[in-house]
Amino acid sequence: MDLRYSPEEQQFRHELRDWLARVLPTVPPKPAADDWPARRAHDTAWQRLLFEAGYAGINWPRDYGGRGATPTEHLIFLEETERAGAPYVGVNFVGLLHAGPTLVAEGTDEQRARHLRPILRGDEVWCQGFSEPGAGSDLASLRTRAVRDGDHYVVSGHKLWTSYATVADHCELLVRTDPDAPKHKGITWLILPMDSPGLDVRPIETVLGSSEFSEVYFDDVRIPVTNRVGEENDGWRVTMVTLSFERGTAWVDQIVDSMRLVTDLVAIAKTVTRRSATAWDDVGLRRDVGHLAAEFDALWALVKRGVSQAQATGVPGVGASVLKLRYTEARQRLMDLAARVLERAALSRTDIGALWSLSGRHSGEFVEERINSLSYTIAAGTSQIQRNIVGERILGLPRER
Ligand SMILES: Cc1cc2nc3c(=O)[nH]c(=O)nc-3n(C[C@H](O)[C@H](O)[C@H](O)COP(=O)(O)OP(=O)(O)OC[C@H]3O[C@@H](n4cnc5c(N)ncnc54)[C@H](O)[C@@H]3O)c2cc1C
Repeated sequence: MDLRYSPEEQQFRHELRDWLARVLPTVPPKPAADDWPARRAHDTAWQRLLFEAGYAGINWPRDYGGRGATPTEHLIFLEETERAGAPYVGVNFVGLLHAGPTLVAEGTDEQRARHLRPILRGDEVWCQGFSEPGAGSDLASLRTRAVRDGDHYVVSGHKLWTSYATVADHCELLVRTDPDAPKHKGITWLILPMDSPGLDVRPIETVLGSSEFSEVYFDDVRIPVTNRVGEENDGWRVTMVTLSFERGTAWVDQIVDSMRLVTDLVAIAKTVTRRSATAWDDVGLRRDVGHLAAEFDALWALVKRGVSQAQATGVPGVGASVLKLRYTEARQRLMDLAARVLERAALSRTDIGALWSLSGRHSGEFVEERINSLSYTIAAGTSQIQRNIVGERILGLPRER
């Protein structure tokens, strides 16, 4: 990958920057966290704007409605949208960042024709039905059962922690199709329409007072066999493709956001006074901020490597686990540092005004994000599991018993 920007890439950056400057003032503010219909409308309207301007699916192949951008253009897109404070991918997360890419890599032509464009246009939202009670880290132990009945699978069981289930149109669903096979060999990856009869979605309220995820119960839910992605009982291999997108490329915009937050934090620390000095006069704080800034720089270099690898092979490599592990832990340390600077204000979701708004953010948002960041080292596979993957598959250490 050539890291210098060509004249075409510079041109791409300028056009995107101009477009963002024109469009962002027209985007309404983010709705309340617990107003899910409004959140869906907000996030999908932004996705539609991206689509109409030719920026949706920036790295997806042109044949599937994407822009087919080069790895460098993809990185420029992430940098510029974050720099401008463009809306987060939100409810489009699963569709855009791992279900869609899985269909590009593994779906049939019919599945791609049916699903990819609606994801890119923000017409359809996806969720992920992988985890179950007793099958989180040990995902291959999942028990939701699918029995073949003619042209359908009949599904019964229970999924847990299904993000966006209340607003989703489709779900990437893992089911057990062969209970007698070794556990990794009896799983199938299905596309579940969320309006299927027999589904019961029960939202779970989090500490933030919003139902980010749900439990989903299946009572003889019928799913057409044509909704299967990959072969029957070959779902574990397809799952690895999905997880490599989820762990590898799905987080990268947040790394740019974190770099911006470090800069904001420095500005705030220079303003907060402690007796006769500012928070920034604290050598310990400066050292910790420096370490963190260097770590985010290194992670961004790793993103560049991952993006260019994904371009060559179509799928991010196992290095995705390194990125996920280090990024999520660094993000938590950043939030702890911010709390050190904000002190008591870091404990209240009420906006403290002047200080944090230096960075154009609402201080309550920071408090929420600090709590939210605690979940990052669990979602998409815990840190311990990423360490196992790094140890076994990258470093070649003996497999855990
Ligand atoms: C914000 C958020 C969103 C989520 N969204 C979704 C979603 O949309 N769809 C979905 O399917 N799932 C989702 N999940 C679930 C997530 O994938 C699981 O929580 C995660 O895989 C961990 O599984 P678990 O919660 O069952 O914990 P467990 O697997 O029970 O783990 C408990 C603890 O034991 C440790 N542990 C387990 N096995 C090992 C081991 N072999 N070696 C060392 N330590 C180990 C874990 O690291 C953890 O600390 C979400 C989770 C969060 C937090």
